[in-house]
Amino acid sequence: MKIWEAHAEPKCKLFGWLALHGKLLTADMLVVRGWPHDPLCPLCVRAPETTEHLCKDCPFTMAIWNQMKSWDNDDSTDISHEYHSISEWWDAMIIGKTNKEQKRINGCFLYILWNAWKERNRRIFTVRRLTYLEVANITREDFLQRDRAINSFRPAIPAEPD
Ligand SMILES: [Zn+2]
Repeated sequence: MKIWEAHAEPKCKLFGWLALHGKLLTADMLVVRGWPHDPLCPLCVRAPETTEHLCKDCPFTMAIWNQMKSWDNDDSTDISHEYHSISEWWDAMIIGKTNKEQKRINGCFLYILWNAWKERNRRIFTVRRLTYLEVANITREDFLQRDRAINSFRPAIPAEPD
C-alpha cells in the first residue's frame, strides 16, 4: 500500500515495486545472468552495486534524500544503515505519521529512488554525470510538478454535496 497510494507517478511506483521485490538489474543480478557489468556502484564507486546499496546505503542516494529533507525543514539524522532492508527502513520512516503525511513521504521517497536510478543509468550509458545536488533539484521538481498537475484539476471537480 505504501507504494500504490504514494503521491508519485505510476512509473515511480512500478520502479519502487521492482526495487522492493529484488527485480532491478543491478550488478549483482547481471552477474547471475552472465551479462557484462561493472561490479561497483556507479554513483559512489565505493561498494558493490546491489538494490539494497543503491536505494538504502549509497552515500549518493542518501545525499539526495538528506537534501530533500533539508528543503522540507527536516534536519533529522539519517539512520538507513541501521535497517536490514529497504522495506524495514521505509516503514520506520512513516510510522506514527498521518495517512496524508505517509502518502507524501512515500511519494518523495519513490521520486528519490527513481532519480537515483536514472542517474545510475546516465553514468553507465552516457558520458554525462550529475551531482547529487542536481539530481536532488530534478527530484524536487518532479515531485512538485506532480503536485501542481493534481491540484490544477481540483477546481474543475464539483464540490461534494453536504
Ligand atoms: Zn553507491
